[in-house]
Amino acid sequence: PRLAREAEALWVSLDAGRLGGVAVLGGKPRQLVAAALMAPSLIGWVVFAADLDAREMASLERLSAIPLHAGVLVGEQSSWRSAAGTMRLDEKAAGSLEGHLKDNAAFEMADDDEPSITLAKPLPTFLTGDRALLILAYPKSEALAGARKLQIALGLMTLLGMALAAFATWRAAGRITEPLARLDHAAGRLASGEHVKVQVRGEDELARLAATFNEMSGKIEEREKRITQLAFNDVLTGLPNRTMFQQQLEHLYHSIEDSDVLVALHCLDLDQFKVINDTLGHPAGDALLIAAGDRIRDVARGHFVARLGGDEFVVLQRVEGDRNAIDRLAEQLIASIARPLTIDGNELVPSTSVGIAIAPFDAPDGGTLLRNADLALYRAKEAGRGTFAFFEESLNRRAQDRRRLETDLRLALERGEFELYYQPLFDLESNRIGSFEALIRWNHPERGLVPPAEFIGVAEETGIIVPMGAWALREACRKASEWPEHVRVAVNVSPVQFHRGGLHETIVQALAASGLAPDRLEIEITESVFLDGGDSTLKLLHSLRSIGVRIALDDFGTGYSSLSYLQSFPFDKIKIDRSFIENLLTRPGATAIVAAITELAHALGMETTAEGVEDNAQLVELRSHGCSSVQGFLFARPMQANQITRLFRDEDQARNVA
Ligand code: C2E
Ligand code: MG
Ligand code: MG
Repeated sequence: PRLAREAEALWVSLDAGRLGGVAVLGGKPRQLVAAALMAPSLIGWVVFAADLDAREMASLERLSAIPLHAGVLVGEQSSWRSAAGTMRLDEKAAGSLEGHLKDNAAFEMADDDEPSITLAKPLPTFLTGDRALLILAYPKSEALAGARKLQIALGLMTLLGMALAAFATWRAAGRITEPLARLDHAAGRLASGEHVKVQVRGEDELARLAATFNEMSGKIEEREKRITQLAFNDVLTGLPNRTMFQQQLEHLYHSIEDSDVLVALHCLDLDQFKVINDTLGHPAGDALLIAAGDRIRDVARGHFVARLGGDEFVVLQRVEGDRNAIDRLAEQLIASIARPLTIDGNELVPSTSVGIAIAPFDAPDGGTLLRNADLALYRAKEAGRGTFAFFEESLNRRAQDRRRLETDLRLALERGEFELYYQPLFDLESNRIGSFEALIRWNHPERGLVPPAEFIGVAEETGIIVPMGAWALREACRKASEWPEHVRVAVNVSPVQFHRGGLHETIVQALAASGLAPDRLEIEITESVFLDGGDSTLKLLHSLRSIGVRIALDDFGTGYSSLSYLQSFPFDKIKIDRSFIENLLTRPGATAIVAAITELAHALGMETTAEGVEDNAQLVELRSHGCSSVQGFLFARPMQANQITRLFRDEDQARNVA
């Protein structure tokens, strides 16, 4: 009955003109093709049916290049059932098929839990009411097999990319961060005073930065060297300076501790350098210093040489063993300096004196050693230029005494410890006191009355003589203004007062303040005033003469060329030195000299005073030679000012009695 029903359905379709399609016959899907039998009019139909079974599906699958699974579904009521092929459709999938059919697109479908990408195509059917579908499923696992490889490849590539990125970052860090860190470190070291260079690699900005840094570091080093050079070296001679010498000296003191090594400090001072500098000019002086520096450096090779300033040089000699090496070096230094040299066409024969102090014997420290070598230098100069002398402890005591004297002298003036004593000069023509010579005394609080011989020299060297001499001039003029008008006052003036200037003003002020007539003031000078004064001394003398002040030449006959000075200035008086008077009657020829001097002075219109007349025989002799006046213990010793008033009273009384 079923077949009859199916045949009935076939007729319906054939009548409707269908010639092929899928039909479910006997529960199975089959492909039908119908052909009309004509003889000549239609007598019947031949219908071929081929099973759409598993075999057919397999052959269909083989046609595909990809591993497809094919199957046929037939529709039953509202759902589908698998009618051919290996596909099994579960309930859920079958249910959702309807929706996918409308989309006409591939969808995902699970078959035996294996998801597949599926395409469903309705097949043309032969019988009305039949529905059939061709299902092509492509298992996802197979479809994605290629994609997995791609995925792995992608994953690998990602990993590789990350690794590359990490490497590149690391490299970049190496090329940027690391050089920057090195630069930062180097800058830090540079700031703390080290001299650093960073290595330059490549040609990028960092390399250029590093190169600039190196350049900067180099320049800083250069500048530092220059600053050090300026701080520790003498610009003129290029020798180390005092600062460096002091460092070196301290260093040497440490280095010879607990050893047998001695250090001899040679202090050199060019003789008469000031004269050369003053007469030939500073450039010549500089040239001489440079030459001296070179010579000392040559001779003292291997020893430390420095210029302390001015014309003062030092050599530090390490002595191990033979101590004669010290004398030898000193002699060589003196000999090398003494070689003649020509500066600006002037032939010079320089010379130097050397003072030597030896560490550790002569001083416990560097400063004292230098001072002691300096003392030895003074002694060498005293002994005659161009010699050397060693320090002795006695020099130190002498120096201490002298320093003491200096400080005392400075205070003496403020404290009013100076006093003028006056010694009369007896006029042989008028037979009365013609003048008094003011002679300074120092009432020392501890030492008592100190004679000028003990402090004038120091006062001259320290310059204290200037205010001291000014005081003497004021004081003498003030006292003399109280004396009878015919009595003059004679004041000794030091060459230093001449050369330090201000003497003219001092004298004018002393006269003005006291009201003393200028011709009642006589200043006594010695020949030494001409030694380094030249024209200015003569000018000053003339200017004093022009205001009426008298000028006497003191200690005549003790200098080298006394007579020649008589020609250079019209002195008012010559004071014949005490040494001639002392031997007047004992030494043959002394009388002749004194006679000659008085005669010469007379011829030049100058008065004469004989100094140091102690006995009558001398007086008689001097009178016979026509000496104008005499001064000495025979008449009076230097006396205090208040005694003079009494003296005049006595003199007046004696005159009155006569
Ligand atoms: P002077 O100017 O030649 O003074 C004469 C010196 O001979 C004085 O020594 C005097 O006391 C000393 N005398 C005088 N008669 C005799 C005598 O019969 N026998 C001996 N043995 N000596 C006699 P005093 O006062 O010691 O002065 C020494 C020198 O000090 C002076 O020599 C003078 O050059 C200098 N002097 C003194 N007072 C001053 C002063 O105020 N300023 C300067 N610049 N020098 C002064
Ligand atoms: Mg005098
Ligand atoms: Mg004298």
